[in-house]
Amino acid sequence: MMHHFKRNCDATLPEEGAVLKIMSIEAIVVKVDRKLQSFSGTAGTPGTFVSSAVDSDYGWTKEYSSLYSKKIESLLVKITTDAGIAGWGEAQVPVGPEAPEALVRQVLSPLLLNEDPLQTEVLWYRMYNSLRGRGHRDSFMMDAIAAVDTALWDIAGKYYDQPVYKLLGGSFRDAIPLYQSGLSGNSIEEKVASAQDAVQQGYRAIKIYIGKGIQADVAVMRAVREGVGDEITLLADALWMYSVHDAIRLGVELEKLGVALLEAPTVMEDVPGHVDLTRSLSLAVAQGETERTRYQFLPYLKERALDVIQPDIGRTGISEGKRILTLAETFNIPAALHMAIGQCVYVAASAHVATAVPNLLWLEMNPAMFEMANRFQRKPWTVTNGTLKVPELPGLGVDIDEASIRRYNDSGMRA
Ligand SMILES: [Mg+2]
Repeated sequence: MMHHFKRNCDATLPEEGAVLKIMSIEAIVVKVDRKLQSFSGTAGTPGTFVSSAVDSDYGWTKEYSSLYSKKIESLLVKITTDAGIAGWGEAQVPVGPEAPEALVRQVLSPLLLNEDPLQTEVLWYRMYNSLRGRGHRDSFMMDAIAAVDTALWDIAGKYYDQPVYKLLGGSFRDAIPLYQSGLSGNSIEEKVASAQDAVQQGYRAIKIYIGKGIQADVAVMRAVREGVGDEITLLADALWMYSVHDAIRLGVELEKLGVALLEAPTVMEDVPGHVDLTRSLSLAVAQGETERTRYQFLPYLKERALDVIQPDIGRTGISEGKRILTLAETFNIPAALHMAIGQCVYVAASAHVATAVPNLLWLEMNPAMFEMANRFQRKPWTVTNGTLKVPELPGLGVDIDEASIRRYNDSGMRA
């Protein structure tokens, strides 16, 4: 008799006897106005914002090629169960959150309704497999899955009455070391002042957005180094702006300034180029916010193309984020978790994963974003001496001010 080995089949989901049942799934596009000035130099607007020619919230910066929004845009997902437990998830979608919103509503909801939300692994594969054969294994589809997956973990924590990090295996550290990301200000003087301010607040590691030419980059990094002294760890993010050749020339100069890490030196698709970079430079070469699954990280790890990986839990979700970090640990590679633009659910999900993995160097922290995320929490989280702790509360431990954040619901696609 011939056997047929069928893979990834979840047809065995129990129909009866589930302790919980998913009753509703709501995807909520959130767009909050922000002061562009206070975000300039940070992840929200690393350069000088230039409005697009058409009437839109979106525009470029003078210095970089990515599109940015005038608003803090995000996608929240609320999943409610028959037992009255509700879980929140969030995807990091600084531009175009309507795309994963449509995917949650039209594609993922039918896969999840009436199912047992505690089956996080089973449901992840069901979602991933649903459009896998159509080639949708990345991008907005993974953002949508990330938001749902995080909401399922929040439900699980609330159901088992445990913080999510404990369900992930427990805490590897008392507090999560943070690096301050994106020094606000456009001039060198403003950036140095912002760096000194970060050190005053207790940060021991600081990241600066560069990518404006080797000379200009070295000048700003030198000024910040002189401004904060040799004890502070400096990281640089080139936002994919260099050729491999120029990135090596830049990296050599940054090494002289004791810069610890060069992020996104060149385009993310060039794995062999990253191998050249890691072999040529003694500082750590890092990248990873653009990748969403372990399948995408695998070539970088196999080829030893990165010294540090930087997955973003708002794009991977908790389940796949944990798997990516386990895979990286298998290759003896540490992680600096990327965390950019979003709200409190995103911060919480990132922090729980950061707590529960062995190979963490830092979690990224943009203070302007964190302050905004806290506005929609009834019990704000606090950064203490450049570290963050997750609260000992069930689930993600966020107490989202639902009524107030819903006022910023702005979806062009909602009927
Ligand atoms: Mg980056």
